[in-house]
Amino acid sequence: MSLRVDAGTARAAMVERQLRNRGISDERVLEAMGRVPRELFVPEAVREHAYEDGALPIGGGQTISQPYIVATICALLGLDGSERVLDVGTGSGYQAAVLAELAAEVVTIERIPELAETARAALATAGYERVDVRVGDGSLGVPERAPFAAIAVAAAAPTIPEALYSQLEDGGRLVVPRGSRWGQELVLVVRAAAGPEERASIPCRFVPLLGEEGFGRS
Ligand code: SAH
Repeated sequence: MSLRVDAGTARAAMVERQLRNRGISDERVLEAMGRVPRELFVPEAVREHAYEDGALPIGGGQTISQPYIVATICALLGLDGSERVLDVGTGSGYQAAVLAELAAEVVTIERIPELAETARAALATAGYERVDVRVGDGSLGVPERAPFAAIAVAAAAPTIPEALYSQLEDGGRLVVPRGSRWGQELVLVVRAAAGPEERASIPCRFVPLLGEEGFGRS
């Protein structure tokens, strides 16, 4: 009982201090992150740190993204609740859960089967069993569920993955950390009639997107 109360308090503090006070103003995003139980998406060993201002290890050399980064990605996607969204790099499943609060349908894809399995279980426990969790190379998107109104990529890519752009509907929005393995910038790409429109956002540091349109297999 007290654990649940503590998590609720910690979550509310996270939303105010780490998000609102730092300029996240999209009320739907703030509400969504105030609802998703982040503690269910981190390994038990680091559960007490679930609401801290940073990324945390989730196994397999991967991390659950910092809350501020998750909020920034969601705000850039500008969702209104009607969309089908693709989340590349499921990891813990936390970003997928927040997207499920913000959009109509969420498809998420992870290359490491064990992480996908753990994420699927966490999503079900947290009440997001409708999220479609897949295993595969997300740098190629999920063609059989395309087109998407929005795509969020949680791993760093050297360039905008062509396959992902091609799976956006007209006016669709893609957010991807672009740069080197060591540092990137979050980029918003909008699919427009005249071609891709790009807008740079904040500097960030993500684990590399491996695969066909990422940094290769190694
Ligand atoms: N959104 C996640 C963040 C996970 S970190 C969360 O909220 O926890 C990024 C994830 O991308 C890692 O789990 C990594 O295994 C995965 N990844 C890297 N390259 C990928 C690819 N080509 N396809 C799918 N997943 C990939």
